[in-house]
Amino acid sequence: MSKQPIPYGRQHITDEDITAVTEALQSDYLTQGPRIAEFEKVFAEYIGCRYAVAVSNGTAALHLCAMALGIKPGDKVITTPITFVASANCIRYCGGEVVFADIDPETYLLNINSVKALLESSPKGTYKGIIPVDFAGRAVNLEAYKELANEYGLWIIEDACHAPGGFFLDSNNHKQFCGNGNFADLSIFSFHPVKHIACGEGGMVTTNDEELFHKLTLLRTHGITKGDNVYPYINSIELASGGYKDETEYPGWYMEMQQLGYNYRITDFQAALGTSQLKRANKGLERRREIAHIYSEAFRDKPYILGQSGDIEGHAYHLYVLEVKDRLNLYLYLRKNHIFSQIHYIPAHLMPYYQEFGYKEGDFPHAENYYSHCISLPMFPTLTSEEQQYVIKTIDEFYSN
Ligand SMILES: *Cc1c(COP(=O)(O)O)cnc(C)c1O
Repeated sequence: MSKQPIPYGRQHITDEDITAVTEALQSDYLTQGPRIAEFEKVFAEYIGCRYAVAVSNGTAALHLCAMALGIKPGDKVITTPITFVASANCIRYCGGEVVFADIDPETYLLNINSVKALLESSPKGTYKGIIPVDFAGRAVNLEAYKELANEYGLWIIEDACHAPGGFFLDSNNHKQFCGNGNFADLSIFSFHPVKHIACGEGGMVTTNDEELFHKLTLLRTHGITKGDNVYPYINSIELASGGYKDETEYPGWYMEMQQLGYNYRITDFQAALGTSQLKRANKGLERRREIAHIYSEAFRDKPYILGQSGDIEGHAYHLYVLEVKDRLNLYLYLRKNHIFSQIHYIPAHLMPYYQEFGYKEGDFPHAENYYSHCISLPMFPTLTSEEQQYVIKTIDEFYSN
């Protein structure tokens, strides 16, 4: 039997990945080299969007999105409580107000009807945007959200950290891939090792909006720009640089800090790892879907199962979630048997930080009920069939005792 610990998620690094990183380390650039632009290009192609901006992590990606969309103190933005807290925190970084809405107990995603209820109960203009999350890898139906966003003048940031390669079917039965920019203004991804593509740390913003794209590239690096990029943002340039007429005449040192930005850059060697990992992304996704199918069948009619991720078309399966009876003891029993499942997530509105804003237990019954039963099973492409069977057998064993 398996005595090696089985985590809920794990990165996969190949010799090819190591070669790619080594080459980057031996090149002239450690940061800000050509591998970043290459990673952005291949990632945009993979996702099917026009622009991609690589950044230092997914949280930085969210912060830049919130800045690029101009969130100001007091602005109200709606998101789900069943997500990693960063999805909500980006609003707070800009002083905005986080408004949570309940989840759909079937999909575990932000319930569009709860969002509608919020929008309808306040004067138009009260809310500025929505941050839906492709939780666990299940794609949010952004076509429906876009319709709502148009009606109420809202922007959409899609938190697609769990879902590179995920898609939903739109009303014309076309596949709409997470982050493709057809409905959301901006989408974000993370390259933390437990996610689909590992860079160590890393993140990406994708969009089809050229103006937002330019804002993001500026904000990612201190709000500083030079060369060609100076031109579209030209501000009293003749004063500043002594009468130069266009960017081709600027002296080499000339740059402008046009906004208050950050250092949210990714390094060239992380981008090299990302590009190398991306080559296997589809294979990994296929394997995740295979694993999900096996879990789904194994637990289908079990009396101890209250709900599960299931076998859903377009699901990217960052996580495979079960809702079970006696969750705590199952979790402990699995640990005793070297299976390190995880709980995603403690509802964000119940975090002490968000309780300070008046949120409390009972606010979002579906999210809280989900949380009291959920458990994320081992789900990563290199999980072997023996390991998966061991996980299934151990869970069955727990409930038959
Ligand atoms: C991982 C994650 C983030 C944050 O990404 P980091 O790269 O860890 O900063 C944000 N949102 C969700 C849903 C995530 O899973």
